[in-house]
Amino acid sequence: MELKGKVALITGAASGIGESTALLFAKEGAKVFLTDINEKDGKALVEKIEASGGEAAFLKADTSQPEDSEKSVAEAIKKFGKLDIAVNNAGIGGPQKPVGEYEIDAWDKVISINLSGVFYGMRYQIPAMLKNGSGSIINVASILGSVGFANSAAYVAAKHGVVGLTKSAALEYSAKGIRVNSVGPAFIKTPLLKGLDEELLSQLVNVHPIGRLGGADEVAQLFVWLASERASFATGAYYPIDGGYLAQ
Ligand code: NAD
Repeated sequence: MELKGKVALITGAASGIGESTALLFAKEGAKVFLTDINEKDGKALVEKIEASGGEAAFLKADTSQPEDSEKSVAEAIKKFGKLDIAVNNAGIGGPQKPVGEYEIDAWDKVISINLSGVFYGMRYQIPAMLKNGSGSIINVASILGSVGFANSAAYVAAKHGVVGLTKSAALEYSAKGIRVNSVGPAFIKTPLLKGLDEELLSQLVNVHPIGRLGGADEVAQLFVWLASERASFATGAYYPIDGGYLAQ
């Protein structure tokens, strides 16, 4: 068990990559504190984890609201006594539009959840981890945190922002025992891709040299390593997990 005795906060945990991460972290012995705006699926996931002998709790929280991020950390500590690991995973895709037509409201929404939400998370997770003198923060970026993608400007800008924010936090806190890294999944089969049309989805398979899209559980495996003591020298980095997408 790689994460035995650790307490992990996972945002956007009710679906997709967050859900797989919650299940795998619990299997690896972590107590998982799950947050999401989707209360029904979040609570169902807690029951599933508890039924298989794990420890979990859920709080309805919106990562675009700083007070929700503050409350998430406070409640996680109240429930499980400390905070060792945070996976800032909540995110949305946003509309598919070129920059010259992109709605201002849509831009603001994507940036507030996908970028400001990661900052709000770390803003409250870091002081809690400093009290332990250790911690591992995993910020979920994307391959689109390092390359562009047509018609997804807000998403691409937010994910590039997450990579930069991660580097800055790592410079500030690595010597204080908190490792901060970002991860760049390529296209992963989750409900997030529901907004993309079928033709684009089949084209996407072809741009992954491995010949398929990724699975959420394959991404969660990297998170386990980054969260564990095995990754003790890993900080300030961006880890693609992408079936070869960025090798082209
Ligand atoms: P998903 O849609 O399956 O899950 C995202 C979860 O985030 C949902 O449960 C949703 O309710 C929650 N959420 C949305 N807005 C929220 C908010 N404001 N506050 C709290 N929770 C909120 O998507 P996923 O594919 O599992 O995505 C997880 C992360 O991985 C996202 O940051 C996404 O950008 C990133 N990512 C996904 C892919 C992919 O292809 N699926 C690729 C690279 C990166």
